[in-house]
Amino acid sequence: MATPLSAAKMLAALKAEGLTVHEHSGWKTHNREAATGKSFGPVIGVLIHHTGGHNDKELCYKGRSDLPGPLCHAWLGKTAGLWMIGHGRANHAGSVDLDVLNALRNETALPHDNQANADGNDVLYGLEIENLGNSKDDYPDAQYRQAVLWAAAICRAHGWSEKSIAGHKEVQPGKIDPSFDMDDFRADVKKQLATTTGKTESTKPTGSTKPTGSAKKPRVDLSRLVKASKTDPGAKQGHVSYMAGTNLTEAALVKLGYLAKSYAGDGSFGSKTIAAYAKWQRHLGYTGDDANGIPGKISLSKLGDTTGLFTVVA
Ligand SMILES: [Zn+2]
Repeated sequence: MATPLSAAKMLAALKAEGLTVHEHSGWKTHNREAATGKSFGPVIGVLIHHTGGHNDKELCYKGRSDLPGPLCHAWLGKTAGLWMIGHGRANHAGSVDLDVLNALRNETALPHDNQANADGNDVLYGLEIENLGNSKDDYPDAQYRQAVLWAAAICRAHGWSEKSIAGHKEVQPGKIDPSFDMDDFRADVKKQLATTTGKTESTKPTGSTKPTGSAKKPRVDLSRLVKASKTDPGAKQGHVSYMAGTNLTEAALVKLGYLAKSYAGDGSFGSKTIAAYAKWQRHLGYTGDDANGIPGKISLSKLGDTTGLFTVVA
């Protein structure tokens, strides 16, 4: 299950994706958990909204008389940039269609939302984009681009694809936000996810490029990963020893069908990951102790090469 990103990891992910991040004072402890007695997570996806107004950053922080803040995790101004608003449970999704939530969890095609029978605030990150939503109020290119990067950063951090993204109008009957096309938005996030972390599309070389092999791929440190695989399963649930390397390894195992997506992306090399990795080792022909789920140099390098997701440093 995907544990929500810590405040520090969220900031790091957004910055690595190329975003300039502004922080509303108090955002790291601003949530609805104590007031509702409900927690946030495990998370399954991200939800996109338009605010329906202008100059509503404070409104999103404080909330309304009938709906206390935070009303999102981040607020994206028309020209004011991206602002962190809340961390943890936020009042942004409300009651949503359980079938759509399940599709987001499984990254399958979203069914039509025709009921509101599940709590979306439990499981979704939310972005509020400052826009009237009347289709006359445009989204400046820079603002739209930041929305793409915000969604991509979170998907990348969890090892999700663009299929973990929905618009509010796709999950709750009667909602109309956001006022842009969500298939286009997902396609734009998909393009961004295909780029190297921290580099935006505009900096990606175009045209014919000489094959530089693995130079730009993220790297997984074998010794740190081995340590994580020996530490995390016996530690308390969700123990994290090596978040980045574990997430890359899990994303590769998900990509090849050895690990369910719902067990990936929390940064913990737990027993499910061990079992999935052992399957990969058996696929490569290893048996017995050589297929015990603890990564070795050859199996890990092959995993990175096969999926194209990373290279290995030992
Ligand atoms: Zn909304």
